[in-house]
Amino acid sequence: MQDHASIVVVGGGIIGVSIANALTKAGVEDVLVLEKDSLASGSTGRSAGVIETQYFTDFDVAIRAYSLRAFERVADETRAEFPQVGYVRLLMDPDDEERFRESIRIQRRHGVDDARFLDPSEVATVVPDLNVEDVHGAIYGPSDGYADPYTMTQIFAERARTNGATVHTGVAAESVAVDDGEVRAVETSEGRVECETVVNAAGPWAPRLAAQTGLELPAAPYRRQVIVAEPPEEDAPDYTIPTVMEYVPGGSKAGVYFRGEGANQVLLGLHQEVGTDEEPSDPDRYSTDYDESVVLEISDLLDHRAPAFSDLSVVNGWSGLYTITPDTQPIIDTHPSIDGYVLAAGFSGKGFQIGPAVGEIVSDLVLDGETDLVPDLSPVSLSRFE
Ligand SMILES: Cc1cc2nc3c(=O)[nH]c(=O)nc-3n(C[C@H](O)[C@H](O)[C@H](O)COP(=O)(O)OP(=O)(O)OC[C@H]3O[C@@H](n4cnc5c(N)ncnc54)[C@H](O)[C@@H]3O)c2cc1C
Repeated sequence: MQDHASIVVVGGGIIGVSIANALTKAGVEDVLVLEKDSLASGSTGRSAGVIETQYFTDFDVAIRAYSLRAFERVADETRAEFPQVGYVRLLMDPDDEERFRESIRIQRRHGVDDARFLDPSEVATVVPDLNVEDVHGAIYGPSDGYADPYTMTQIFAERARTNGATVHTGVAAESVAVDDGEVRAVETSEGRVECETVVNAAGPWAPRLAAQTGLELPAAPYRRQVIVAEPPEEDAPDYTIPTVMEYVPGGSKAGVYFRGEGANQVLLGLHQEVGTDEEPSDPDRYSTDYDESVVLEISDLLDHRAPAFSDLSVVNGWSGLYTITPDTQPIIDTHPSIDGYVLAAGFSGKGFQIGPAVGEIVSDLVLDGETDLVPDLSPVSLSRFE
């Protein structure tokens, strides 16, 4: 184990490896990624892999449009697949229509030219099995899609390595040594690594690592589930199922989502924020299986939304953790009291799709103290919670 690196990135999920990749692209060679387990073994490997730009603010669309283009390039250049099956975000509340139409205008400004507003009959054309009687429209991104989070993580890590980074798996960061308000070293399970900068990209464990410096990160891990199912043969759709999402960002109601998976399977989940009585999970001790109750809940919702898919035969399923902040936006910022300590955490169930942009932003923050990828980092600042 080396005893020095300029920058130590803690966490080998999509965020950590994207940061390492961006830093090495910018010319920093002695970047060290520490992953206590294996790459993508945290939330990343348990993600549904959806990549999309159907969001409502300039900031959210900017980072997603940037990342979508980055994933397209990776798919062009490597073995990774990025099926661009489309993404349909349903408009359930007519009062939201202007917000949905504005999303299309924002996306155009960020170069997403094919996104469009669909009226209910058009929604039914894109997803023929959908019941649209209570749907008021949708925003639709034909270029959106999904990718295998494990493969993408490996590719970003490989690229960082090729550019000089070292990626150690099976090595845990135990604490960050600070002296005189500055980062000096990371104490690891394999010894001390002196460094000038540390990036906390530890996913569901990020709050614990931050707590070791006395910082209470407003983010906590909550268990969320995904199932993969096969519709009965006679109901197998003869069209590509895009991701269909009932949940609307900013809404407190859980929403069912699903997308085609391979030739004849459907991946389904419930996207939800923190429930009123919900307790955070311990990332070292939670059930990674799926619960039968979730299958029933999803099936009930599908009875109404897509009856053809409600009689599902489950072939796989799992649980992972969303690390959720109070406003469900991530925290990408410098530590309030320690120079050389950067935080990239709290991705609230949507961090895979913005990995590439977060990588660039953090690299810019580390190297220049600012970024021009977005005009303003206040939506992801730590101080917004003060
Ligand atoms: C069921 C589910 C479905 C999802 N679907 C989507 C989706 O469709 N699209 C989307 O964009 N997002 C989705 N997400 C969210 C997405 O998976 C996360 O936001 C994203 O993967 C966060 O990446 P990360 O790198 O921050 O965290 P992680 O992937 O958890 O990586 C953190 C890594 O840090 C390591 N680590 C922690 N502490 C230490 C330490 N002290 N020393 C060394 N290593 C350490 C961990 O082992 C882990 O590998 C989903 C999440 C879940 C659970």
